[in-house]
Amino acid sequence: MSSFKALRILARPAVRQLRPTITVTSMQSRLHSSKHPKGFEAPATEDLEELRERVQEFTRREISEEVAAHTDKSNAFPNAMWQKLGDAGFLGITADEDVGGLGLGYQAHCIVMEELSRASGSIALSYAAHSQLCVNQLQLNGSPAQKAKYLPGLIAGTSVGGLAMSESGSGSDVVSMRTTAKAVDGGYVLNGSKMWITNGPDAHVIVVYAKTEPTKGSKGITAFIVDTTTQGFSCARKLDKMGMRGSNTGELMFDNVFVPEENVLGKVNGGVRVLMEGLDLERLVLSAGPLGLMQAALDVALPFSHQRRQFGQPIAHNQLVQGKLADMHTKLQASRAYTYATARAVDEQGTVRTEDCAGAILYAAERATECSLDCIQLLGGMGYVEEMPASRLLRE
Ligand SMILES: Cc1cc2nc3c(=O)[nH]c(=O)nc-3n(C[C@H](O)[C@H](O)[C@H](O)COP(=O)(O)OP(=O)(O)OC[C@H]3O[C@@H](n4cnc5c(N)ncnc54)[C@H](O)[C@@H]3O)c2cc1C
Repeated sequence: MSSFKALRILARPAVRQLRPTITVTSMQSRLHSSKHPKGFEAPATEDLEELRERVQEFTRREISEEVAAHTDKSNAFPNAMWQKLGDAGFLGITADEDVGGLGLGYQAHCIVMEELSRASGSIALSYAAHSQLCVNQLQLNGSPAQKAKYLPGLIAGTSVGGLAMSESGSGSDVVSMRTTAKAVDGGYVLNGSKMWITNGPDAHVIVVYAKTEPTKGSKGITAFIVDTTTQGFSCARKLDKMGMRGSNTGELMFDNVFVPEENVLGKVNGGVRVLMEGLDLERLVLSAGPLGLMQAALDVALPFSHQRRQFGQPIAHNQLVQGKLADMHTKLQASRAYTYATARAVDEQGTVRTEDCAGAILYAAERATECSLDCIQLLGGMGYVEEMPASRLLRE
């Protein structure tokens, strides 16, 4: 049992007595939500604050600025991190407890994503591709046998997960994908390629979407669980990116890859439902990434503005500098409010609003770009050199 999980179980009865109203709301969500494990109860604010502190302790210990800078410069994921994230209990935040998950819901997942992103956007992106795009898709759509087979290793951090929908010719228009899955005796044979797949070069388990009935458009796509040791699977290349460097992104090839029938995720030809419902929650959890990056920009710019002296005083004494810092703070808090209100609606009412999941990531991502530009400006010449993390934050 992870230390956080033990702590949470110990803390819960006292928290419940203090917050009876929240508990009633949570009981309702337990009855209606299909997005949470059986018996899910929305965590109380105290639980979430406790979790945030645990993640901050983890990042202080394991993801220092040196680790973040090295990951960026080397463009290589620190592979030992998977085991560390697994040991800390962070890889199965939304998953069933009987496969090793914490069953804590989406507010909790956003908190972990935000704090990891504050330390390193790229490590956090790989984390989200694993824990949300792969683990949570298996949690929501997997059969008991599929969950029992794949989730314990993914949650422990002994295997790495990803999700592959995009193709070089099918990005926004993902339903136009060309990868095919032909029915054969005992399963399906996959042929085609996938592009920009986070964790693709490292993954052991990938959720792959392919066309089982190419003439039926959106009604002919199926989701599969692909074991990357299967003959015919390969990662053609690792992509060299502008930002999120070290979150390994790959182009994947499927050359007559046999996938057994029991690895169909959800229903045959029901892949678009799996994909689209998954995208809502993926966008929501990923919207916490820019929150962490905005906090990281403030973490750098605030102390710098007070320490850096020009014209005989700290630059923070100038109103224009204060205005920039105030804008950064306000953008972060507004984005944070949107993301967590959307996550709370999922956890406490079982309501997933597509427009708000997309809105939260749109808003936070644009504000994060603005904040990181302000951070560079506030740092002056130091904002432009790689000794400081400002340019990494902008690229991420
Ligand atoms: C770092 C990174 C990690 C990724 N990880 C994954 C992953 O793990 N798994 C995965 O499956 N995919 C992943 N992707 C792929 C990502 O989902 C696609 O890049 C995205 O869907 C956009 O597709 P595209 O790149 O083909 O752009 P396009 O769809 O070609 O879009 C190009 C431009 O045209 C605009 N555009 C397109 N259609 C319209 C329209 N109808 N109206 C107006 N404007 C339009 C777009 O907004 C964009 O500005 C990743 C991408 C990146 C960069």
